[in-house]
Amino acid sequence: MGYAEVSVNSPIAQRRAFSYAIPSGLSIDVGQAVWVPFGNKLLQGIVLELTQYPSVEETREIAGVIEPHPVLSLAQVSLAYWISQYYLSPLFDAVALMLAPGFERKVVTFISSRSTPNDFDTSSLTLEQRHALELVQRQGKVSLKKLEKTLGIRQARLVTSQLIHQGLVVRSYELERVKIKPKKVAYLRLKVEASQAQQEAFRLRKKGAGKQSALLDFLAQQSKPVPLAEARQKAKCDKAIVDALVQKSLVELQRIEVRREPISYRGITPSSPLTLTSAQESALQSIKSSLLEVVKGYTPPSVFLLHGVTGSGKTEIYLQALAEAVRLGKRGIVLVPEIALTPQTIERFASRFPNKVAVLHSKLSLGEQFDEWQRIRNGEFDVVIGSRSAIFAPQPELGLIVIDEEHEWTYKQHDKSPRYQARDVAIKLAELAGAVVILGSATPDVETFYHAQRGDYRLLQLPERVVPTEASPLPQVEVVDLRDELKAGNRSLFSRSLSQVIAKAVTGGEQVILFLNRRGAATFVQCRRCGFVLRCRRCEVALTHHFVEDVLVCHQCNYKMSVPQICPRCLSRRIKFLGVGTQKLEQEASYAFPQARLLRWDSDVTKRRYSHEEILGKFRAHQADILIGTQMVAKGLDLPLVTLVGVISADTGLNLPDFRAGERTFQLLSQVAGRAGRGILGGQVIIQTYSPEHYAIQAAAKHDYALFYDREIAYRRQLHNPPFTRLACLVYSHTNDTLCQREAERMKRLLIEEIEARGIVDLSLIGPAPAFIHRLRGRFRWQIILRGSEPSAFLSQIPIPQGWTVDIDPVGL
Ligand code: ADP
Ligand code: ZN
Ligand code: ZN
Repeated sequence: MGYAEVSVNSPIAQRRAFSYAIPSGLSIDVGQAVWVPFGNKLLQGIVLELTQYPSVEETREIAGVIEPHPVLSLAQVSLAYWISQYYLSPLFDAVALMLAPGFERKVVTFISSRSTPNDFDTSSLTLEQRHALELVQRQGKVSLKKLEKTLGIRQARLVTSQLIHQGLVVRSYELERVKIKPKKVAYLRLKVEASQAQQEAFRLRKKGAGKQSALLDFLAQQSKPVPLAEARQKAKCDKAIVDALVQKSLVELQRIEVRREPISYRGITPSSPLTLTSAQESALQSIKSSLLEVVKGYTPPSVFLLHGVTGSGKTEIYLQALAEAVRLGKRGIVLVPEIALTPQTIERFASRFPNKVAVLHSKLSLGEQFDEWQRIRNGEFDVVIGSRSAIFAPQPELGLIVIDEEHEWTYKQHDKSPRYQARDVAIKLAELAGAVVILGSATPDVETFYHAQRGDYRLLQLPERVVPTEASPLPQVEVVDLRDELKAGNRSLFSRSLSQVIAKAVTGGEQVILFLNRRGAATFVQCRRCGFVLRCRRCEVALTHHFVEDVLVCHQCNYKMSVPQICPRCLSRRIKFLGVGTQKLEQEASYAFPQARLLRWDSDVTKRRYSHEEILGKFRAHQADILIGTQMVAKGLDLPLVTLVGVISADTGLNLPDFRAGERTFQLLSQVAGRAGRGILGGQVIIQTYSPEHYAIQAAAKHDYALFYDREIAYRRQLHNPPFTRLACLVYSHTNDTLCQREAERMKRLLIEEIEARGIVDLSLIGPAPAFIHRLRGRFRWQIILRGSEPSAFLSQIPIPQGWTVDIDPVGL
């Protein structure tokens, strides 16, 4: 008899798989979905391994298969194990990442009647038992849920198990029905012969019903039913006209099942590969030869870092590398940040691979995701494009993975288990499946660049824009020192230079983007005279002001100090809390530039589907002069009429309580500086700051990645931060702050004991401290950071108490 190690869909299962016996006659493969008994329930499970011997003495049998074919590939099975172990997530959470949308369904328990023996005396039953039995017998089969509703949960469970025991009823399990319904679209068709319709149309026109007549005429010319929306558009009529014809029994509406298609290839013209520049050519050659070697099985696959400013032709390389993979019989996955998954991006891929591109992202309806997923699994697409979770798409013959804007933080899932980093998962998957990886960025993550420097990844560089001369030189960047503004008596959010150029641009019919570099709501304290920022002595991060206690707190180590009255550096009294929101900015802009039309773009305005597009569309159509927003506006910079981008305050980003604050600021400012002024009007960028000498600001203004990297990596080394160490962030949350802190202190002691008991020397503990977002949905949060060479391996051996979440390689502390 054979055995299977099964990952079971139960919260109790945690990071383990369970041994089950395979009943004779049942053929089971690795990756297959099965039903298994677990406690007194029947649950879904995925077979991860087949073994000769079980890992426990007593095993139960697999109850049945859910689907005849494996739902996970061998590489995905290994990947699930790795994710669960490395990110310390329950095994089934990792497995579930790779299952079809809607796979996880509940089991419904049914109770059905059996033929009662003739001599059975029902008077031996209790009143409740008899009542339940009658209910079941009347309908033959009743769900346990329904019995629970009628009899109460406890009664129902008690009575049914008594009846089962007596052999009067049996229990059975069925899958809850799939909630995804096929998509149906309304179609319009004639109910009469075409010739008759034309006569009617003629008659209607004479009676003055021109619109009805036109619609009827249109339909008479069609050979098959037409989608209602299309018919209305073509005949330029509204629903009332359609209803009128339906009333007259001339036409009828039908609902026809259609496939959901996230991409409409209508209107997309196929594109051909461009002739590459020599820099592009040499980069592509390296990738091509790696692909060939991998396909032939000569070498393990490489990870490439493609470093090139925006407009240097990275996307063209992705497209040609994908084409090469396809030529070699392979397929690809392309990851882009969620916010970049716009119709324009999709169109670039769709036009090069017509009808061969699948799209996966979280804004698709469950049904759309489900349809795409099934078709991907059937091998219908050369390229799958999507946000981070698309890395788990069931793409067969995977040969190439592209991660565009690899430095983006959205590749890390931080809000639910498994807290995985899609970039690292991709590299692991590539290793398991034998695929080449291209990481592309204008401002690579410091850790990625470090690996490229060490030779772990292969560095490919595109130093220049494809069209560097006339149309799109890198824009000129001016850094404005806000301390000078204050000296000159200017207290507004706009420096004198910025005000002037805004006014000039708006009067000249050009457009302006005002960018507020801001995340969360941290308030730090800065001297407006000399720019000095109060920082933690131990961690170097900016201290955050807590209003209630009126103290400054380090969000890494909980160091506290009172708010100083004068600047410790220049003794000025102008020491202030800084932090401005988009609403405040909009208000000030409306006073300062009363003639300008303003448009605000932030997360408040963009919670709805596609509204990014709506806002951008509005701005592109020149329905506003000034666009105000946070991080998002950096994506909207590719607009021909925009000649000026103003960064209101670069300091907010620099002073977040996070060792990556400098990196984040550099990335954002570079994106702004690199994308502004792509139209023929040219462009200008103004960065306002109290710290004009900061290397992140200097480097961004000069478009100089190396300048930034050299300084940053030196700091990282000096302060023992990644990539020289790895971090794990443990968070505890509770409605009571004191209790929360106490639990965090207790956990700290436990961790220290464990570290000492194991004699581990290269693991240190920072905190506990209030988390950056100290209070979230009514719960307080405290965090402990573990720093060392392998915090994950250490934590995997510690029983983590209830209520704690663990984030390995966190981004945004
Ligand atoms: P990136 O992805 O680095 O921002 P793109 O691939 O989008 O760069 O290229 C920027 C622009 O240059 C695009 O309009 C693209 O069509 C064009 N382009 C890219 N490579 C070439 C080439 N070899 N010859 C002509 N135009 C090119
Ligand atoms: Zn000062
Ligand atoms: Zn500190």
